[in-house]
Amino acid sequence: MSVNVLTAAIPAAVTDFIHGPHKLLIDGRWITASSEKTFSTRNPADGSILAEIASAEAADVDLAVAAARRAFEDGPWSRMTPAARAKLIWRLADALEAKAEEFAFIETLDNGKPLNDARIIDLPHSIEVLRYYAGWCTKLNGESVSLSNPGTWHAYTMREPVGVVGSITPWNAPLMMAVSKLAPALAAGCTVVLKPAEQTPLTALRLGQLILDIGFPEGVVNILTGFGETAGAAITAHPGVDKITFTGSADVGRIIVKAAAGDFKRVTLELGGKTPVIVFPDADIDRAIEGAARSIFSNAGQICNAGSRLYAHRDVFDRLVEGVSRRAGEFRVGNGLQASTQMGPVVSQEQLDRISGFIASGRSQGAEVRAGGGRIGSEGYFVQPTVLTGTRPDMDVVRQEIFGPVLCAMSYGEADLDRVAREANATSYGLGAVLWTKDLSTAHKMAKKLKAGTVRVNGGGLDPALPFGGFKQSGWGRELGREGIEAYTELKSVAMAL
Ligand code: NAP
Ligand code: MG
Repeated sequence: MSVNVLTAAIPAAVTDFIHGPHKLLIDGRWITASSEKTFSTRNPADGSILAEIASAEAADVDLAVAAARRAFEDGPWSRMTPAARAKLIWRLADALEAKAEEFAFIETLDNGKPLNDARIIDLPHSIEVLRYYAGWCTKLNGESVSLSNPGTWHAYTMREPVGVVGSITPWNAPLMMAVSKLAPALAAGCTVVLKPAEQTPLTALRLGQLILDIGFPEGVVNILTGFGETAGAAITAHPGVDKITFTGSADVGRIIVKAAAGDFKRVTLELGGKTPVIVFPDADIDRAIEGAARSIFSNAGQICNAGSRLYAHRDVFDRLVEGVSRRAGEFRVGNGLQASTQMGPVVSQEQLDRISGFIASGRSQGAEVRAGGGRIGSEGYFVQPTVLTGTRPDMDVVRQEIFGPVLCAMSYGEADLDRVAREANATSYGLGAVLWTKDLSTAHKMAKKLKAGTVRVNGGGLDPALPFGGFKQSGWGRELGREGIEAYTELKSVAMAL
């Protein structure tokens, strides 16, 4: 297997943007980091340096939080009607749609994902999330409450924006992650300090340009590129930040919870997953094969909800493993700019090493490699789509989130739903679960037994209306849907004796 090298022509607007400069967005202006430090972002397809990016530290965080606070308390944002906020967010969606092709190229260059995936998944989803939450601005209501206290009372609840939000996002779907944090926060009336991941800062910065062009008031959205240990830690510890919303690893999630505990900041966490794909013998096996392969190999497995554990009934296990292994071999791996590419590189040398380490540990603990198992080429960070069998629940590859294109396939003997659910639930994570069955009774019963934030039956995909988040160590709270915007509000109760 070799890496595709032919690449699509990069539009001039993309090259111009990438050549920079890349500064911090604070209070409606692009400014250099106070330390004047920068860091490089790389193209994972060849490891080359794409751009130099301003590296924010605590002093920049102070400025950004102060700007966000002013915009929240005193600025035009605080006086804007919900309908006017909705209009601005909708205009941001329109602007993003108009520049979708440019954003798709930037995302592919910075993150490595196939251009076609950026075009048909990342951009449309980001645009839809903006439109979905634009609609919520005018619908964020409380309710009237009937009290039983002596006397005559009028009581009601209302939803108020929580305040200044610190958003810290990962590199696997950089634009989608930035937008999933910004859209509900802005719709609720909050102001934001966003720190994108150091590996993939570019689409957030380009989005910042659109936000300024459209005319969001200054200070409403501040974008601080930089490192987690400096910029991220300063945001989480800052007394001027009311809420932290974070997507990333469980380890950093724990650090954030501790940092936020000092002043009891509100915290939403979207952490990892170890999603089981459970196949019952009555399932449409061809569709299950395709679904299972896409679930783990899409975005090179760098999806918190990737279907990383396959549980198939022993009667269909061999067919499934053969099918998914065949699909693994067929997946066209290459530079994301190549039109035929179905899987790009992983994001960094660090992730390549981490994934390779997991595959080696699986092998040494007795797993059999049924497909892939190695790196492709020596340039860029390409991993083969990999299928492991002979894996047991005590192995690291089964217990930990690999965040790469590595599937652990296991079989079960009896279609005893309690037992299947127990095995599927035997993980510290609880983000998602996927079922393949034609039996409605099996589907409903299993949906109830699984300890997962999202259960999908016979299919996949994200929708802005469907809340997303995890049980157990997969996080706190939900994004998307009504819950996703309510998470950026405080509920106030008002009671009046008449
Ligand atoms: P990570 O360290 O959790 O990074 C996520 C975000 O948190 C980044 O913006 C990061 O900044 C920031 N961060 C890091 N340390 C911080 C701190 N002390 N305080 C505040 N913010 C901090 O994830 P990673 O190291 O890039 O990836 C490692 C593993 O995390 C992956 O292999 C995968 O298992 C998991 N992961 C999960 C998701 C998900 O969607 N659930 C996404 C990404 C990764 P910098 O990047 O600048 O350090
Ligand atoms: Mg990191």
